[in-house]
Amino acid sequence: MKWLFFLRKIPLLIAFPICSGDFDKSADITAKFSSIKEEFRESVPHRKGLTHNEKMGLTGSRVASIDFDGKIAMQHIEAQTSFGPRSPQYPDAKFQTLSYIRSQIPSSMQIQLHEFNTNGLNGTNLWVSSRVAQKKSNTLIMLGTHWDTRSQADRDTDITQRNIPVLGANDGASGVAVLIEIAKHLHKKPPKINVDLIFFDLEDIGNIGKNAYAMGSREFVKEHPKYRPTAGIIIDMVCDKDLRIPQEYYSSLAAPEVISGLWESAKRQKANVFKDTRGGVIIDDHIPFLEVGIPVVNLIHFPFPKSWHTTKDTIKFCSASSLDQVGRVVLDFIHQYDFNK
Ligand SMILES: [Zn+2]
Repeated sequence: MKWLFFLRKIPLLIAFPICSGDFDKSADITAKFSSIKEEFRESVPHRKGLTHNEKMGLTGSRVASIDFDGKIAMQHIEAQTSFGPRSPQYPDAKFQTLSYIRSQIPSSMQIQLHEFNTNGLNGTNLWVSSRVAQKKSNTLIMLGTHWDTRSQADRDTDITQRNIPVLGANDGASGVAVLIEIAKHLHKKPPKINVDLIFFDLEDIGNIGKNAYAMGSREFVKEHPKYRPTAGIIIDMVCDKDLRIPQEYYSSLAAPEVISGLWESAKRQKANVFKDTRGGVIIDDHIPFLEVGIPVVNLIHFPFPKSWHTTKDTIKFCSASSLDQVGRVVLDFIHQYDFNK
């Protein structure tokens, strides 16, 4: 993803054509999200015995118990980085990573591969569906992350390292790790709504050659014109030990109800990595969805950590607690947000 620092004060409709060369259509980013209100169902009562939240020191009558284990999520980061960089020049690592993600998805969920070719590059989006609610609910929430990694560490402080690919423990593997554990949780505790989890390829190749950011999600949106989830959440760079997630600029503008709901969940879960401040202007996988009017927010570390797009993006700087907080907040939102009012 990319941070557009110079566009901070520019309105969205103006900013879109400036920040990316391939916006030939006028961006319709009006949030069509009127069915969602900022009201919540009663919190789930505590179970007997020590819940995970209690172990984390998260007690209180309004805290819903969410079974999410950041330490297991760390193992998913370790596994992905053990395959090496997941950029186009490493097809074996990409194949191993896709196989790994597929092997972790519970059998109750459907998996579809969306293969595409763009700018001469082959990409694969992995589309997982948990449709246990099926026709009982019209609500469909899309959770997304990118599974590829950047092919050049072009922000490395050592200029001799800038042609080396990024390992992407944070930028790539962390979002995948959280989504895998969310899938397992949803299998054990099916939600009342339908949920899709999409692992996007070719997000992090922007400004390398003639490539743009978020190419995989853009191809996905283009090739699935009838795909219209109620809302969505993109998770990216969420494992840093000093994680802080403010409210990303476009997300706040185009999907304010989803932002409010997530930050209510963060309060309920006492997840202090979520900050009540406006974040940066980020180009990530939420943008192609916002352009077609689907309210999708971007949960991302900002300002970006020092390891961003460098050879230092390794598991050394990751924390189970950061992953845990993000996982619990997203699950709290899925289980508790009232999508019907
Ligand atoms: Zn990146």
